[in-house]
Amino acid sequence: MQFEQFSFDPRILSGINSAGYTTPTPIQQQAIPVVLKQHDILGLAQTGTGKTAAFMLPILQLLSAEPSRYIRALIIVPTRELAEQIHQTAKDLGKNTRLRSTTIYGGVGKGAQLNALRRGTDIVVACPGRLLDLLNDKLIDLSHVEILVLDEADHMCDMGFLPDIRRILKRVPERRQTLFFAATMQDEIRSLANNILHDPVTVQI
Ligand code: AMP
Repeated sequence: MQFEQFSFDPRILSGINSAGYTTPTPIQQQAIPVVLKQHDILGLAQTGTGKTAAFMLPILQLLSAEPSRYIRALIIVPTRELAEQIHQTAKDLGKNTRLRSTTIYGGVGKGAQLNALRRGTDIVVACPGRLLDLLNDKLIDLSHVEILVLDEADHMCDMGFLPDIRRILKRVPERRQTLFFAATMQDEIRSLANNILHDPVTVQI
């Protein structure tokens, strides 16, 4: 199987080429067509499997059809490092599109993050704590989010982020596409997934 088979926009295909990807990984083969059809996903996958591009490529494709000045994709992750990594993947794969990505996390000043939000961004990659701060201070608007990704949801649960995540979910439209990834599925995480996913397709590698 080749990336060409997914009928990606040429700008996205050229991002894939410059990233040096030649063949989709197994998780990408499974997940990309499902995300492009706008279904929800329950993904059981470790990092290192190509999971990030498995959700980022179809997100770039779906968003690039009609750029806007709103946040349309929100990716929630447990750590700053993962946020930076996913943001970098969005920039690399989307470099020929006009889509913009920015990160939101704590432990650093809010100024640069707020400036990026003011300039406008299509994709936000965020850790729960700072995102909730900005929501409570009405400094970020998630009312136009179309695609929500919870990445490493099991780690977020272990780190005690579930209450924050539940509060954030109340501020994201209910009519949306949700992509939920975890490496393990304990009861608590399975019930969160059951609550927020609509008729999901399970992808597992
Ligand atoms: P991830 O599981 O998303 O953390 O990705 C692991 C690594 O695999 C990253 O360094 C990616 O750049 C790389 N990668 C992702 N998809 C592909 C692909 N189809 N071909 C080659 N490398 C890839």
